[in-house]
Amino acid sequence: VLPSFGARRRAAAASILEPQPLASLDARNISAWFGERQVLDRVSLTMPAGVITSLIGPSGCGKSTFLRILNRMHELVPSASLAGEVRLDGEDIYDVGRPLTEARKHIGMVFQKPNPFPAMSIYDNVVSGLKLTGTRVDRQTKDELVESCLRRAGLWTEVKDRLRAPGGGLSGGQQQRLCIARSLAVKPRVLLMDEPCSALDPTSTRVIEETMLELVQEVTIVIVTHNMQQAQRVSQQCAFFLAAHGTPGAIVEHGDTDAMFADPLDPRTFDYVNGRF
Ligand code: ADP
Ligand code: MG
Repeated sequence: VLPSFGARRRAAAASILEPQPLASLDARNISAWFGERQVLDRVSLTMPAGVITSLIGPSGCGKSTFLRILNRMHELVPSASLAGEVRLDGEDIYDVGRPLTEARKHIGMVFQKPNPFPAMSIYDNVVSGLKLTGTRVDRQTKDELVESCLRRAGLWTEVKDRLRAPGGGLSGGQQQRLCIARSLAVKPRVLLMDEPCSALDPTSTRVIEETMLELVQEVTIVIVTHNMQQAQRVSQQCAFFLAAHGTPGAIVEHGDTDAMFADPLDPRTFDYVNGRF
């Protein structure tokens, strides 16, 4: 006997509110091209479950490209190609049998410039993520989901009395936390953040950092940052990317963040983390 529609719907609603187990992300020998031009050369990095990994390095060394490969956004650029493997908890996200939306659903992305739908309400911005999963949920479940996502993004107390106000009316830092809440609505296993604080003031930056440190207990985080203090404040693991003299970007070294800043193995890392280039 098939479960009734109501029962199936309640099961779907419950699974939307339950946390997912933590997952690791494993990139192996990633090379990337735009047309003929190679921009990444055999980058391998394990991003362990429940850890914040920061990617650092000068502009143009391929950090954003690497991040976009991690959730299959790279392939949206017509001239782009790549080689290598990305595994989410051991499963190949580029497996031909897997739909693109599945990778996107499990691996959320937050960008440098906060991009909520400006005219859409705060409430609907959070719920909009659900369209990706095609899950239909009742009003009460939606309310619970919106509250839970906004709480986890550190925004609930500031917006709970104006959930129907447009997302575009929030401050920059609040908009960025709204974007985090929106990505949490689909229950990602990994959250990729490309310079999420570069457009924000120091106070908003600290609030986002605190949010990340809470969130990493439920979602693995990878952050690109140009702020060396931020890398040290938030990340346990750090990877230094470099594209020297027109060569494709590669990882010079990676490892425990404190060790890498205190005692880098490579002189180029030492120069970079000490602001010499
Ligand atoms: P980073 O984030 O470290 O600054 P990017 O990943 O954005 O580096 O860029 C790496 C290289 O790829 C740069 O040389 C950049 O100009 C090039 N690149 C990035 N996006 C594109 C694109 N859509 N088309 C062509 N080249 C690109
Ligand atoms: Mg970038």
